[in-house]
Amino acid sequence: MSRRPIIAGNWKLNKTHSEARQFLLKLRNGIAGIDNPPEVLICPPSVVLETAVDATREGGIAIGAQNVYWESAGAFTGEISTEMLESLGVSHVLIGHSERRALFGESDEDVNRKLLKVLSGTLTPVVCVGEVLAEREAGKTEHVVVEQVKNALLGVAHEHARRIVLAYEPVWAIGTGLSATPDQANTVHGLIRRSVGAIFGDAVADELRVLYGGSVNPDNTAGLMAESDVDGVLVGGASLDAGAFAGIIRAAV
Ligand code: PEP
Repeated sequence: MSRRPIIAGNWKLNKTHSEARQFLLKLRNGIAGIDNPPEVLICPPSVVLETAVDATREGGIAIGAQNVYWESAGAFTGEISTEMLESLGVSHVLIGHSERRALFGESDEDVNRKLLKVLSGTLTPVVCVGEVLAEREAGKTEHVVVEQVKNALLGVAHEHARRIVLAYEPVWAIGTGLSATPDQANTVHGLIRRSVGAIFGDAVADELRVLYGGSVNPDNTAGLMAESDVDGVLVGGASLDAGAFAGIIRAAV
């Protein structure tokens, strides 16, 4: 099964309106002419989404949000709905990033609610899972990741399962400069694929794209992407520099 890779950047709390515009123009030039390009996705802060959608109208770069709420409207100060994102032309959304889980108390149940809401609309969800260092050292990686995947997918209809993208982001590798090895990543990606297959069947599992995230840079991308179950990367720090991110995209193809 050949799955089109996704190279995604998560800007977190970085870049103003004009910085975003400059970055996207530079990235567009930096990746022009690549044969068989992967899907390229940038997830800027929510206040920059409109600028980012506008700067990428010519195509080739999709824009995603970093978070979303599970209600459509109402007294939920500070939250953003799927309908608002869709109306801006945003196509993707991250759900359950480890920083949302650790810093903002997002639970597996919250992740599941968000996923179900996103799947009721048109956005493509990128659901993030991953173990912390203590869990890896205690030999619990498999259990933690499978539980996160299963809990996220509770109640997802079979016909919606194909739209889901999963991202394996070991928390100990995020922002530390210490990436998982290609073999470590591939082992967990295979496990994620089998877990999804156990719920939705082999056809969905074969099509599922599982991204790796955690200290990805232009030098370690090719090794990760060479693995059979690594279908792309989700990049934090190195996605802030258009040259470095273009280097990752080039290394991935
Ligand atoms: C991330 O936050 O999703 C991430 C992978 O960050 P970094 O690439 O900086 O490790």
